[in-house]
Amino acid sequence: MRLSNYFLPVLKETPADAQIASHRLMLRAGMIRQESAGIYAWLPLGLKILKKIEQIVREEQDRAGAVELLMPTIQSADLWRESGRFDAYGKEMLRIVDRHDRDMLYGPTNEEMITEIFRAYCKSYKDVPKLLYHIQWKFRDEVRPRFGVMRGREFLMKDTYSFDLDEASARAAYNKMFIAYLNTFARMGLKAVPMRADTGPIGGDLSHEFIILADTGESEVFCHADLVEMGAPGPDVDFNGDLQPLVDQRTALYAATEEMHDAAKFEAEVPDGKRLSARGIEVGHIFYFGTKYSDAMKAMVAHPDGSTVPVHMGSYGVGVSRLVGGIIEASHDENGIIWPDSVAPFGVGIINLKAGDTDTDAACQSAYDALSRAGREPLLDDTDARPGGKFATMDLIGLPYQLVIGPRGLKDGKAEVKVRRTGEKHELSIDDAVARLA
Ligand code: ATP
Ligand code: MG
Ligand code: MG
Ligand code: MG
Repeated sequence: MRLSNYFLPVLKETPADAQIASHRLMLRAGMIRQESAGIYAWLPLGLKILKKIEQIVREEQDRAGAVELLMPTIQSADLWRESGRFDAYGKEMLRIVDRHDRDMLYGPTNEEMITEIFRAYCKSYKDVPKLLYHIQWKFRDEVRPRFGVMRGREFLMKDTYSFDLDEASARAAYNKMFIAYLNTFARMGLKAVPMRADTGPIGGDLSHEFIILADTGESEVFCHADLVEMGAPGPDVDFNGDLQPLVDQRTALYAATEEMHDAAKFEAEVPDGKRLSARGIEVGHIFYFGTKYSDAMKAMVAHPDGSTVPVHMGSYGVGVSRLVGGIIEASHDENGIIWPDSVAPFGVGIINLKAGDTDTDAACQSAYDALSRAGREPLLDDTDARPGGKFATMDLIGLPYQLVIGPRGLKDGKAEVKVRRTGEKHELSIDDAVARLA
């Protein structure tokens, strides 16, 4: 991409109403524009990152054996009347009336709809287990939308739903998602800690929130410090095997959100130097809720023993758009964003220090072509802005590498490679620089 042809409306001034770094940086880097409270247009740079994150989430769901479909954003109120949630959900639900006076709503989540789909087709124990997901916009009329995309009203969520014959099988589905989430967040460079969360009336131990630690997080969390550094199992996990030991390893150590926190237990179980109490951002939430919806909505299957039983269900959410902000909270400095390679919108930023100079233009073009061929998706700043402005913009938008090409270096056939994260700079021949970045 050539910057001259792109749409990157960076802001010089720090937006006054943005309270946290990620919100400020997303506005300054021209990633999003607020259209109403908590409702954002995704500008080209923001959209590219959102798509990369979405794709990682998708790949890890697929790897775990979940199957993608797509449900609509607008739902019929009748479904929600069946579960009893049309009234129970309250003001967070955006209610809509269509021209025939039918009650509709913009989905805040999809348990009802997926249960309706499941029950329409699946009638037998042979039809389970099923693990289905979609990545779709949600709407929740949050009382206090804030922090940009972190707490929007319209936001992108990946939600998976599991259907099983019994609790033991549902636990296996839960474990798949537990491990898939660890891998998902690790691929984005995040240290997400699974923490015990409230299961509501269902009880049991099968609800975890995945929390990344950040001072600006809205939740207060308590955990054993070792959990933060415990790596993810990685892509070689056998999702059809027994995942319980991997899950146990992570759930053996204390970790709880505020609602579940037990101070006495925390002190008893976690040694002094390991007690971490911090703020965190909820980026994912997994939940087994048994037959809550299948009972209410009659999602029944024939059991091998001849009886008919309600299926056991769970739901598993990832805040895809919240992650954009979450990653920035975890990875930025005073000059701007620092994208991990895996979600970077462009692999390399090429800075042309003297656009219009024939030799510099040609060298930039050939580096651009080579890096494009290598699949590095370079962004070439070919504008006539001043070098200082170009450096600042590249730092702000946080591409992992910069390749700086100007007439002075070119005289000796040299260019400069800058690593955004560390600030290291290397003077290299153009060919070496390109080879290194390709
Ligand atoms: P929160 O506690 O932050 O309000 P939640 O517990 O209501 O979130 P869930 O119903 O568990 O959210 O939804 C699954 C995921 O969707 C959350 O873990 C979070 O990452 C994301 N999410 C929820 N609400 C929002 C929002 N208003 N804006 C952006 N992402 C959200
Ligand atoms: Mg909420
Ligand atoms: Mg929550
Ligand atoms: Mg939650």
